[in-house]
Amino acid sequence: RACTILLGYPVSEMAGQNLRQFVHPEDIPVCEAWLQKMLETGQQQEDLECRIRHSDGAWSWYGSSGVPAKDETGVVIAVYGIAKDITQRKITENAMRRSVEIQAILREIAEAAVMAPTMNELYATVYRLVSRVLPSGLFHINLLDEVAGEIVVPFRVDDVTVIPARRPLDKGMTEYFLRLGHAAHITPAEMDKLTAAGEYTLGEVQKINIRHYLGAPLTDAHGKPFGVISFLSMKDEESFYPEDVEAISIIAAQVSMAIERKHLEEELQYKAITDGLTGLFNRRHFLMRAEEEVLRIQRYGGICAMLMMDIDHFKKVNDKFGHAVGDIVLQRVAVLCREATRTTDLLGRVGGEEFAFLLLESGRAEAMQVAERLRLSMQNVQITVKEGIQIPIRVSIGVAEHHVSKETLSDLMNRADKALYRAKSEGRNRVAEME
Ligand code: GH3
Ligand code: MG
Ligand code: MG
Repeated sequence: RACTILLGYPVSEMAGQNLRQFVHPEDIPVCEAWLQKMLETGQQQEDLECRIRHSDGAWSWYGSSGVPAKDETGVVIAVYGIAKDITQRKITENAMRRSVEIQAILREIAEAAVMAPTMNELYATVYRLVSRVLPSGLFHINLLDEVAGEIVVPFRVDDVTVIPARRPLDKGMTEYFLRLGHAAHITPAEMDKLTAAGEYTLGEVQKINIRHYLGAPLTDAHGKPFGVISFLSMKDEESFYPEDVEAISIIAAQVSMAIERKHLEEELQYKAITDGLTGLFNRRHFLMRAEEEVLRIQRYGGICAMLMMDIDHFKKVNDKFGHAVGDIVLQRVAVLCREATRTTDLLGRVGGEEFAFLLLESGRAEAMQVAERLRLSMQNVQITVKEGIQIPIRVSIGVAEHHVSKETLSDLMNRADKALYRAKSEGRNRVAEME
């Protein structure tokens, strides 16, 4: 009778029924083991915790202890149990466990911000960690590229949507979250409302029928949103819970710091190896990378060639048009250099108006061709700096092939330098080669 009152069933629906009908399927094994033990040992058992269904369909947690009743021969013929509602305690316990888990995740994200060797590995770690407390499914990290006016998706766990890695700003969910400025769970009903209000256009998402969005903006140190992390669900039924919104909100704050840190690190790294004016490798990094390649060739064999290029009469450009114009010319020259070479070649600005190229997998014939192509591409271009003022660019280039012997980088560079000197002395705007 107490059970029927507690659970809200009429006596007729409980009496004589199998316990399995009321116990949560996941908890049936625990229940059966608990009963089994009592039958085997004939001892009192405590601490059964299981979920039982109320007549209204809701599950409650019950904690039970049981006492076996025996007949005169000592055989267990019945079990008396005492059960009390421990739902509140369970909710508190789960919340605490989750909170401890989230703390651990925050710590690990902070660690990944330092340890992850690349941005992409940081993203992957974030996904792995958040999946511990949030339903793992479709997961996107979207970033706002304000300069380009685009949404970039640098990371996603998603094999269904067709959202491009880069798209112009529009009326997407990402844009909505950037405006919203806090974490939220967008249900199908809310999505309809946002669509009606003109806040959101379904776009590509509609085609694959996303029903639920759990998202949180990523914000910089000034609180300005720069991206969104989101979980998407295609299931119509409730996919996310209120505690998920809280979790993603807390986690997003930590992810924001991690991403910002990593971005800063990558920016510093980039600045450390590139020349600020041209974006080519700076002298130090060019030498370091070229040294690696030459050592590799010394050990394993292979070929490469060095080109040294110097702009002809560059001083005159500065004198005539000013240093700022000279800088523009240097930038244009760098672009032409990139266009004339392969992405695997090493390009460096090794002096004021001096550029070095290490052409990998290239012998002297190919190096001469590249050098000639470079020289011509400069000769064929007129740089317009102001209206009506055009500046011709001429360059001299020295070429040296790496000797199959154990030639060092500095010997190779010296020979390319000598060839350059000869090109200059023979009248400039030409390519000279070193035997
Ligand atoms: P040559 O044909 O013999 O190479 O003559 P040149 O005038 O190019 O050679 P020189 O070495 O005498 O002059 C190089 C000039 O490059 C001098 C310097 O002011 C200029 N320069 C070096 N670095 C920069 C830079 O970063 N920006 C600008 N605008 N000029 C630079
Ligand atoms: Mg020079
Ligand atoms: Mg020069």
